[in-house]
Amino acid sequence: MKPANPDLPIIGFAAWSGTGKTTLLEQLIPELNRRGLRLAVLKHAHHDFDIDQPGKDSWRLRKAGAEQVLIASARRHAHLTETPNGEPVLAELLAKLDRTTLDLILVEGFKQDPIPKIALHRAALGKPLPEVRQQDLLAVASDAPLELAVPLLPLNDIPAIADFIERHIKAAAAPAEESCDTLSPAFLSVTQARAQILTALSPHEHHLERPLGACAGLVMAEDLISPCNVPPHTNSAMDGYGIDGSVLTHGSWQVVGEVLAGHPSSQRVAAGEAVRIMTGAPLPPGVDTVVMREQAVEEQGRVRFNAPLQRGQNVRQAGEDLPMGAVAIARGTRLGAAELGLAASLGCASLQVLAPLRVALFSSGDEVQAPGEALRPGAIYDSNRFTLRALAERAGVEVVDLGILPDHQAAITQALAQAAAECDLVLSSGGVSVGNADYIRAALEQLGSIAFWRIQMRPGRPLAFGQIAGTPFFGLPGNPVAAVVCFLQFVLPALHAMQGRSWQPWRLRAQASEGMKSRPGRTEFLRGVFTQDSNGRLTVRTTGPQGSGILSSVAQANCLIEILPAQGAVQPGEWVWVHPLQGLLG
Ligand code: AMP
Ligand code: MG
Repeated sequence: MKPANPDLPIIGFAAWSGTGKTTLLEQLIPELNRRGLRLAVLKHAHHDFDIDQPGKDSWRLRKAGAEQVLIASARRHAHLTETPNGEPVLAELLAKLDRTTLDLILVEGFKQDPIPKIALHRAALGKPLPEVRQQDLLAVASDAPLELAVPLLPLNDIPAIADFIERHIKAAAAPAEESCDTLSPAFLSVTQARAQILTALSPHEHHLERPLGACAGLVMAEDLISPCNVPPHTNSAMDGYGIDGSVLTHGSWQVVGEVLAGHPSSQRVAAGEAVRIMTGAPLPPGVDTVVMREQAVEEQGRVRFNAPLQRGQNVRQAGEDLPMGAVAIARGTRLGAAELGLAASLGCASLQVLAPLRVALFSSGDEVQAPGEALRPGAIYDSNRFTLRALAERAGVEVVDLGILPDHQAAITQALAQAAAECDLVLSSGGVSVGNADYIRAALEQLGSIAFWRIQMRPGRPLAFGQIAGTPFFGLPGNPVAAVVCFLQFVLPALHAMQGRSWQPWRLRAQASEGMKSRPGRTEFLRGVFTQDSNGRLTVRTTGPQGSGILSSVAQANCLIEILPAQGAVQPGEWVWVHPLQGLLG
């Protein structure tokens, strides 16, 4: 089955009654079908309507009080639902359509809803253009020579209207990378920029041996091969009685001893005998089955069991967690709680890890001042160094904080050269947008090479990426939110690559609970709050004002909302990607 397309184009038609809307759609639909477009129509009706005739079975059952009637035949089915809350909500209706079989949805009516629309106009009717919000108006189809800010389509030329719709769908679906603008090296989509960064980087190779207790957050430099079985002995998973499970019909068993964890017993247990055994104690010879204590009654040296028995139950086999010789922890794995415990369970007291990446961090700009002193006139406090430091440390690197670079050529050149010599990566913020990029550009041209990219995304359009004497350099935008978004989209994957770790965006699908602005052709990252209802369904709202300097929007967010370049503005109920921030910001 084709997956449902959440970004399915929707086009509404607005017209005064008498314009001939239905007649036009009746001709347009077969024309669009001929062009291979499969479509649904959502039609608003102003009056009470019955699609089933009085006296028919479906009518009688509905009249009898069924709130929903689903009538189905070999040809088609129809779902009749009462709308007790009055006017239906467009987003809810759209959600009912089976999008897996569609390329396009046409909507008739729903004048007030913010969907792209074509307005129909017939001069003979003597009415003005139907009212459509300017930002929703795609085109007007009229039989009069109107002067308009949007394309004018000939009302009676069905193929021309179909052409327009086809072009609109293609433009909305085309990834940004296909437009002419974005093929120029300075203009990249998020995906293209990331791909270019990743091909330019390679994992660093400094290994070191670290005691296990100091390895949290570091990355394995080589595979750790299990030198033994885990668990090392076949042992009991319960406190209870160990028996030979080959015969389970004894009625009662004679208790012959006790085995405690850490105290293996070599005494063989015969058929018809039982030993008391504790969780984790190795099974003595003869025992292959354990019955939990709660299911046993011990009296006068014999034990009976009051639950069904199964041979092999409640036993942990030697090596069932990890067999000897297996890869216990793969190279490139970041060592977290589970991996450290696993390494310890193998008896490893130290591990071969990659030396932590050293990242040099600067802010830049004459107006930027370190917190802790009274603010100079016209200055702002430096927030980026603190945000970026926490983000980088969260990614397992060591940050070397080199303070604030003044807008001064020699100082910048000298500081960047020194940072590159001492660190594995240089990261700065500010000073890379058009108009103020000159200092960093000049320094990088002298010391290495640099590309200034205008990425098709918001926030965070300007990004500088290059190298200083072979050390990678990122120049992030100065706006605090843009710096965070750029870090997450570009620097984080780069840090993973340099640590030999794979990286993938962690994204979930959620339904927008409000309309969201976005311009087709670029990726929009909004700060959002996603929540889950009791059925596990995710919905997401924005944190409010989205200016790229509003850092409190990041503090309030639990996710970034990604609106794809092809998607454009999002209507309530539409599906968007959310990138959970949990674990990334610290
Ligand atoms: P720029 O990218 O240098 O043009 O800076 C864009 C905006 O971000 C300006 O309003 C700067 O003042 C601001 N900005 C630059 N660096 C920082 C910083 N380290 N902390 C907070 N805001 C900054
Ligand atoms: Mg600046």
